[in-house]
Amino acid sequence: MINAHPESLILKSVFIAGVEGKRFDITIRDGRFSTVAESVPGQARPKRELWISPGIIDLHTHLAWTDFDHADQLKRSSGEIEAMQAEAFAATLRTGVTTTRDAGGLPPNTVRQLVSQYRHPLRVETSSEMLGAADALGTEHLERRLAGIFESGAMWVKVMATGGLGAPTEQVTDPVFSEEEFAFIVHHTHANGKKVLVHTWGGVTIDWAASAGVESIEHGMFLTADQAGRLAEAEVAFVPTTSIYRIAADPKGVLALNPVICDRAARAAEAHAQAIGYARSAGVRLGFGTDYATPALHGFNLQELDTLLDYGLTRAEAWHSATAGAAAILGRGHDLGRIAEGYLADAVIWDADPFQAPNADALRKSIVSVITGERAEELA
Ligand SMILES: [Zn+2]
Repeated sequence: MINAHPESLILKSVFIAGVEGKRFDITIRDGRFSTVAESVPGQARPKRELWISPGIIDLHTHLAWTDFDHADQLKRSSGEIEAMQAEAFAATLRTGVTTTRDAGGLPPNTVRQLVSQYRHPLRVETSSEMLGAADALGTEHLERRLAGIFESGAMWVKVMATGGLGAPTEQVTDPVFSEEEFAFIVHHTHANGKKVLVHTWGGVTIDWAASAGVESIEHGMFLTADQAGRLAEAEVAFVPTTSIYRIAADPKGVLALNPVICDRAARAAEAHAQAIGYARSAGVRLGFGTDYATPALHGFNLQELDTLLDYGLTRAEAWHSATAGAAAILGRGHDLGRIAEGYLADAVIWDADPFQAPNADALRKSIVSVITGERAEELA
């Protein structure tokens, strides 16, 4: 159930996920937490025990995509695509994700339509079209491309700095842009008050991203220990999107990719576990992101938590990356990602302790409701 912009809501004697042993009385007014106070001892216990957590923030989705291979989307009618995009919004919200950063493909005007017309109150920060190999044509071309992206109203610029699953593992970290082009994109974007997220599997583009001071790098499975130190120092966030590679590596999984791609994904997944370890010990800011892009994946975003835990994060670290940590990466640490007075009431109500959930499936099934603080008009 989605509880959009509650005018007035009182939660008595609930637990806050991750805060052990204490109960809280929480009041929401006009879509914000107005009071969050520890319950008075001796107060009557509720009939059903409930937990509240901040709404999940997914820093890497592709809500506009309907198929793994983009060519397949082109075979669909525009009405069918729109219905599928609307369902992606709905499924994302139902699983407790209240804020997303779209990592490419979703124009801001589509967000406005899906939020206001379809009434799906999902907060989406967009990056519009991605800059990739076809744009490595010099800085004049890039300036024109960037002007178009800024014009669309997108807050972010997405740079494909290396290959991905489509590239052979031996070449996947080769830079797509020259160092000059890359630095131009970052400086020009920042000069226009926008932010940069960089798709990179590893190699020299991670160093370029650290020295240019981008907001975040994505995937980064071939990150080295030294590079982790540089990212931490430059305060560049790392959004590893770990689970998608495990899913892609499984030939019988929901993506059912061909054996060559499965093998590349398996090698990526193997490297990821190590990259997460380097990032964790260096103190890199880790952000939760799924890279989910198809109907079989939207709505299963919480699976990312399972993989982050498998790769060595504690529950507290994994949840931080999906709530307060992610909000800070968006520059929204002051009003998103916490159950605290004055914060937007984006939250998930659970009927079991989310920090004890054995896996994402159990976690998803324990969702009672999803609260979104802002009005649709504010989100659109
Ligand atoms: Zn992506």
